[in-house]
Amino acid sequence: MPDQFQVGIIGGGLAGLCAALHLNKLGISCIVWEKGEYPRHKVCGEYVSNETLHYLSYLGYDPFKDGAVNIDEFEISHWNGNTTHAKLDQGAFGLSRYVFDHALYQLAIKNNITVHLQENVTGFSKTEEHYEIKTSTNQTYQVQILLSAHGKKSNIDRIMDREFFQKDNDYLGVKYHFKYPIPSNLVALHNFETGYCGVSMVENEITNVCYLTSKSSLKKYGSIEELESHLLWTNPFLKDIFTNGEKLFDEPKTISDFSFKPKKPVEDGILMLGDAAGLITPLCGNGMAMAIHAAFIASTLLEAYFNKKISAEELRHKYAEEWKNNFQSRLDVGYNVQKLFGKKSISSVALKSLQVAPFVLPAIIKKTHGKDFFTKGLPGKDFFTKGLPGKDFFKQ
Ligand SMILES: Cc1cc2nc3c(=O)[nH]c(=O)nc-3n(C[C@H](O)[C@H](O)[C@H](O)COP(=O)(O)OP(=O)(O)OC[C@H]3O[C@@H](n4cnc5c(N)ncnc54)[C@H](O)[C@@H]3O)c2cc1C
Repeated sequence: MPDQFQVGIIGGGLAGLCAALHLNKLGISCIVWEKGEYPRHKVCGEYVSNETLHYLSYLGYDPFKDGAVNIDEFEISHWNGNTTHAKLDQGAFGLSRYVFDHALYQLAIKNNITVHLQENVTGFSKTEEHYEIKTSTNQTYQVQILLSAHGKKSNIDRIMDREFFQKDNDYLGVKYHFKYPIPSNLVALHNFETGYCGVSMVENEITNVCYLTSKSSLKKYGSIEELESHLLWTNPFLKDIFTNGEKLFDEPKTISDFSFKPKKPVEDGILMLGDAAGLITPLCGNGMAMAIHAAFIASTLLEAYFNKKISAEELRHKYAEEWKNNFQSRLDVGYNVQKLFGKKSISSVALKSLQVAPFVLPAIIKKTHGKDFFTKGLPGKDFFTKGLPGKDFFKQ
């Protein structure tokens, strides 16, 4: 007899681990399969919007105990060195994924949640009652509901032959940690021809430097070092970091072949969480908050499902709807704003416009960030009266 759980979660990144912690609090049995292990570095700007803080606290995690820094100011620079500043009203915190993901994993273990490391989900099939999951360790599992929090790029997308999979994937993300002094409350977005680079501080006075460019640029210059000296160093801020800072990794962390094209939040009955449901362009700095928020939405609806308040069909329908209501416009704004950067002539105009009309920047920040989704305390009554429009809704 295979191991059985109410919920199976593919992927132990932020979305997967937050969902596991939340479901466990609700008394819903779950398993997380994670193909990697912890701690590990990830390509990420490591700037986390404060809209997540109350929810993280509910899950039992305080990032500031692990040295997270407060961030409340934003700077954007043109490659000629001109800058524009904005206050971040809601604010954010800086914490490395090395610490963040590991801390959530440790919390999951402390709470006796089943997390299988170095176990890759290699296939699944669906019957009327359950999903049957197969993994790289030749194990088989049965779960009633399957969540996939497999990130921006995974074998799961290939197995499912997801529509976006082969499209629009010329992107390259590169990340370093530096010893380089910057104001700890500042997140900067430094532009260069063909891309942009986020710079902000995480724990232990480490400065995260993470940029997005294209694989074609890498091909043109032949190596990451050449690409950086020809493209990134045209911006004086970046040149200074790379020439005067101390790199803390031997090699940069890189990721490529991912897509910002629309995805579906529910596919084959599986609830997609985090980047698996849709990837927001990194300049928005909101991907992690969206991943964590999606875990909140899915877990809250799963509570209703397992308490027999909604059917499986309603669960999927409502999840897709809540996902779109909360995230779709942020994704669209992020995608369109990103188009303004990376092409010299267009981004020059865009950055000059920001200097002339500084109120535009806070407006963009507002449109790409969410609000604290947990201020009302525990989800439940409020969420269902507001979020679930009642019996008739699903019959429409
Ligand atoms: C260049 C760049 C900079 C960014 N900067 C920021 C930023 O500053 N702020 C921000 O909020 N967001 C940022 N993001 C986005 C952010 O990193 C993601 O939105 C976030 O990591 C999504 O979390 P997740 O849990 O969905 O996926 P992930 O954290 O990627 O986790 C997915 C997990 O699934 C596992 N997995 C995959 N397939 C399988 C399988 N078959 N079986 C088992 N396990 C599997 C993987 O090993 C991984 O651990 C950035 C993204 C990029 C590319």
